[in-house]
Amino acid sequence: MPEKIKIIGAGVSGLFLGCCLKKNNFHSIIYEKDSSLSPYGAGVNLSKNATLLLDKVGLLDKLVPLGYLPKQVHFRSFDNASIINSHALNENSNDFISVDRRDLIDVLKNYYLSLGGELIFGHKCIKIKDSEIYFDNKQKTSTDLVIACDGIKSDLRSKYFDNLNPKFSNLVAWRGLISRDQLPSNTFWDQINIHLGPHGHVVHYPINKGKQINFVAIKKQTKWEEESWVSKGNINELLSNFSSWNKNVLELFSKSDNLHKWGLFERKPIKNLVKGNLLLMGDAAHPMLPFLAQGSCLAIEDAYSLSELLKNNDQKKSLFNYQKLRIKRGNEIQFRSKLQGHLNHLSNGFLIFLRNLFLKNFGKRIQESIHKYNAIDEIKHLPN
Ligand SMILES: Cc1cc2nc3c(=O)[nH]c(=O)nc-3n(C[C@H](O)[C@H](O)[C@H](O)COP(=O)(O)OP(=O)(O)OC[C@H]3O[C@@H](n4cnc5c(N)ncnc54)[C@H](O)[C@@H]3O)c2cc1C
Repeated sequence: MPEKIKIIGAGVSGLFLGCCLKKNNFHSIIYEKDSSLSPYGAGVNLSKNATLLLDKVGLLDKLVPLGYLPKQVHFRSFDNASIINSHALNENSNDFISVDRRDLIDVLKNYYLSLGGELIFGHKCIKIKDSEIYFDNKQKTSTDLVIACDGIKSDLRSKYFDNLNPKFSNLVAWRGLISRDQLPSNTFWDQINIHLGPHGHVVHYPINKGKQINFVAIKKQTKWEEESWVSKGNINELLSNFSSWNKNVLELFSKSDNLHKWGLFERKPIKNLVKGNLLLMGDAAHPMLPFLAQGSCLAIEDAYSLSELLKNNDQKKSLFNYQKLRIKRGNEIQFRSKLQGHLNHLSNGFLIFLRNLFLKNFGKRIQESIHKYNAIDEIKHLPN
């Protein structure tokens, strides 16, 4: 069993891994490059494959009172918001939750600290060599195992795994939050709505106990010229990109006051997740386009799986099994997320007809095929 475990990055994967390791009586330290955790306000959907694990670790009960439990997903046409297909969520249990990312990070951080976890800020990892981790502030520390949870921009992945950088996907996302009381009081806003249109789609759903509506609007764009991957969004640019869309969507956009625009970047599927005593996790391992709302969910699956696998005394075997389980799942969902984008953004009338027919007949089954993944069972079924 590794005695010294070091985690690089305090996002969803790093913090949840810290919680899981603490629960399993491992000592770990998280090193974060920034001087504090100041996540942007935006919604995150967490489906059963993740909430099952949050529950197991004792975190779901802390999140549910802060989030929102949607009852339905509606797929709609972009022009008149007519329903293409709807299916139910949270039918028999509260296993799908929409939360503010700030709440998620806060709950994870507070729980990790309450379990006695150490979180050290202002430490940007720049090199790992011979079981030593080097930081940009000239400090270094020794380790038995180091887990790179440093996000899609992961320098550790580029440096030690594939020597590649993320590439712009030709897609941008505007994200905004609107107070619920600024919108009409009808029930249109109370569920997850996904409007599908040519070359783009829009998702909106309530968070913060239903007091705010979060939206993400995706559109094709050939270049990303900003230095940062996130910039302040311009409302007029957003409205002109979606001018032919239904009035509900336009109303939502026009009321948004804290708009951000993101370049969506992607990486090629990875071949290995483990190199010596260095592991990749979360977006560092399998960053994905956000069209299945699975990035954080998979980070949660990764973290839980590793912390369970490490209970085995044979570290080599634990790491082998981590790679085996997580590379398959990560690469599959990464591929399916990209495919979902192509389906969402069709512009040919006949293909749209076929897609809508497909959604009506198989939409629920497709979603369930992703959400039913059970990391606990997957580990149980590994050969001895
Ligand atoms: C528009 C959009 C919508 C999304 N919606 C959903 C959703 O509904 N559901 C869902 O499950 N997912 C969603 N996601 C994906 C989700 O946000 C990510 O998959 C998730 O945040 C990844 O977590 P992470 O911990 O791997 O990386 P991050 O959250 O990026 O955290 C990485 C951390 O590492 C730190 N760091 C980086 N480099 C270093 C270094 N060298 N040394 C020390 N620290 C370092 C960073 O400062 C950061 O704190 C969405 C993403 C986008 C863009």
